[in-house]
Amino acid sequence: MRVVTLIPGDGIGPEISEAVVKIFEAAKVPIEWEIVQAGAHVMEVEKTPLPRAVIDSIEKNKVALKGPITTPIGFGFRSVNVTLRQTFNLYANIRPIKSIKGITSRYENIDLVVVRENTEDLYAGIEHQIGDVAAESIKIVTKKASERIAKVAFDLAIKQHRKLVTAVHKANIMKLSDGLFLDCVRKIKADYPSIDYHEQIVDAMCMNLVMNPQKSDVLVMGNLYGDILSDLCAGLVGGLGLVPGANLGDEVAIFEAVHGSAPDIAGQNIANPTALLQSSILMLRHLNLSSYANQIEKAMMAVYEDGLYLTKDVGGEATLSSFTEQIIEKIIK
Ligand code: NAD
Repeated sequence: MRVVTLIPGDGIGPEISEAVVKIFEAAKVPIEWEIVQAGAHVMEVEKTPLPRAVIDSIEKNKVALKGPITTPIGFGFRSVNVTLRQTFNLYANIRPIKSIKGITSRYENIDLVVVRENTEDLYAGIEHQIGDVAAESIKIVTKKASERIAKVAFDLAIKQHRKLVTAVHKANIMKLSDGLFLDCVRKIKADYPSIDYHEQIVDAMCMNLVMNPQKSDVLVMGNLYGDILSDLCAGLVGGLGLVPGANLGDEVAIFEAVHGSAPDIAGQNIANPTALLQSSILMLRHLNLSSYANQIEKAMMAVYEDGLYLTKDVGGEATLSSFTEQIIEKIIK
């Protein structure tokens, strides 16, 4: 049995995590969960949203599945997500965006991957107040992190038999920081002659994604553009309830949905567990448990194709638990 850390998180996190645990049980996945608590809900007792036990568990197990965690806006504790990424040097955030048959969304046949640099840019957390008249956030871009993320994007393109890598930037305005990012991607690109390479300014990229999303393949970019474009891309295939993510470093990997804790629907048994389930499928492939990943993915896709038990966010009326039960039925059949 492989031990994996499970952080249910805040808001809808516990409900959707429970769905994944039940589905893994039905598929007899050889994984033992080590459940640890982090997030806004542990603040009062632990005095921190990220207790030491959580860090220790991830350090030991090297792989974690994480539910969403609430971050206060404009005040309060630092984002647990950002802290985890920096603590474990999870420098690559991979977000596959793929159309699911059976979901009516604005587009069909989308199959792209957002590769987001995860440790620096405006998310380095270096901010200060200038008197009471201004505030400054520092955007850090280093050669090391830019070359590293470019390599991840090109390696992924090769591994997944993809054809095109597009670097997304704003180097026309941020000539030094985004200019350095682009120089680094160009340098790495030279090692991958079989992959086509484009560059696109981030605003034009947004328009092209909305007009012709099927033309995109692998998109590589800095932290902020990656954060924003991931949600945009989630919207192209049916919304935040569907899209998975992986945070990868050299030693540790944390898998999590793109969406947040969705406080507006928490505790109502109506959240869609697909994004976390798809993240757990990525996790199984990372752990070389692909046969289980394929089995669970097949069952989930079959429920979508049937179209009878879809959750509200994708146009259905099913509850979180009835959608989960349907997947389980397909697995044990
Ligand atoms: P959100 O993703 O939580 O919600 C945006 C909208 O999408 C809401 O209407 C919500 O109901 C819906 N939605 C999200 N996930 C869904 C699901 N699985 N099924 C059905 N509908 C779903 O974004 P927000 O409201 O901006 O953020 C809420 C909190 O989550 C904030 O504190 C934010 O900082 C945090 N957050 C955490 C993460 C993370 O832990 N990785 C990511 C993003 C936001």
